[in-house]
Amino acid sequence: MKVTDIRTFLMQAGKPSDRAWASDAKGHQGSRNWLFVKVYTDEGLTGIGECSGWPRVIETAVLDLRNVLLGEDPADIERLWQKMLTAQMGHGMTGIVGAGAMTGIDMALWDIKGKALNTPVWNLLGGKVRDRIRIYSHASDGETALDLKRRGFTAVKTGGVANPLQKVEAIRNAVGDDMDVMVDLHGPPWMTPKDAIILGRALEPFHLLFLEDPVAPENIEGLARVQDQVAIPIAAGERAATIWGWRAMIEREIVDVIQPDTGRAGGISQMKKLAGMAEAHHIMMAPHSGSLGPVAEFAALHLLAAIPNCLMLERIEDDWPGRYETITASPQQKDGHLAVPTAPGLGVDIREDFVARHPSKVNVSVAGGGYEPGTENESVYVQTRLRRAATFKTKGRK
Ligand SMILES: [Mg+2]
Repeated sequence: MKVTDIRTFLMQAGKPSDRAWASDAKGHQGSRNWLFVKVYTDEGLTGIGECSGWPRVIETAVLDLRNVLLGEDPADIERLWQKMLTAQMGHGMTGIVGAGAMTGIDMALWDIKGKALNTPVWNLLGGKVRDRIRIYSHASDGETALDLKRRGFTAVKTGGVANPLQKVEAIRNAVGDDMDVMVDLHGPPWMTPKDAIILGRALEPFHLLFLEDPVAPENIEGLARVQDQVAIPIAAGERAATIWGWRAMIEREIVDVIQPDTGRAGGISQMKKLAGMAEAHHIMMAPHSGSLGPVAEFAALHLLAAIPNCLMLERIEDDWPGRYETITASPQQKDGHLAVPTAPGLGVDIREDFVARHPSKVNVSVAGGGYEPGTENESVYVQTRLRRAATFKTKGRK
């Protein structure tokens, strides 16, 4: 079999006028760009993949890499991954753009291999460890968290650095002790390790499953200090790419949970290796999904089915309804879990006509990145303590 073509499908999920993470009146998440990749072969089989990170830029990277793969045997996934990596060396170290492009192509090659062998991708990764994957969603208040609990969710995450203690108090008081609660501080560049430690210690009584990105991802020494001084498992890594992006975190056991983004980590191949590196250090994996579309979610389900150290998968509830019209099959959700797909390959494809009707018009993540003091959109490094007072404010647990 030979690769004959690679095409990209870039779309706007939601209305371009929506803010990236704003919800509408029905709670549907706002606008993002989704980039899908299709690899074509001379035997008529095609594979689907998805790239996140900076989709409008990654589309160009995918099309540049197309020439590297034309005429190649799509079965040689590892060799082709290494070929794509070395092809980019002239552009500098591989970041989320290069890794994002390799991710979508790698995913599509696994899809082709599964279809060619008439078996699901998880079967090619060593077989199933589990039949369903635990998922979590997000809430900023007790009412939303309780609604998720009533819908079967067993874990909920709240985020933001403006008032995380108040949010956690409200959520913990609403859902009780039999639901896992997590906090994501989004690692803004101005969050010092010392402030993260103060905040982390104040969060200790709420028995969090994990504290995510307490400092900026570039601040690995700061993350190590938070890990040493806060008695909450630490999660990080959504902005990293390739196995080398997590190596220090894992080898030094600075994190308890790694959160590779399935659309930009480097592909199913890299995430399987990463899971092995983490397993050797008793570190769990909970992939990031934030801005991801529905194809990468399928890829995550296959990977998580096949690794022992799966913690759970992030999910946006409720997402833009068009999410389910973008793909040919939706994952089956029940009791806070998604069922592991059973069809050959990834078991999903995109509806090209629907994607074509939602062209990418704007990157709202960048365009909407307004300056908001005291939030993760704050861009100054040193703020007054007064301005940050809300961050540390607590009324005490009921
Ligand atoms: Mg996060």
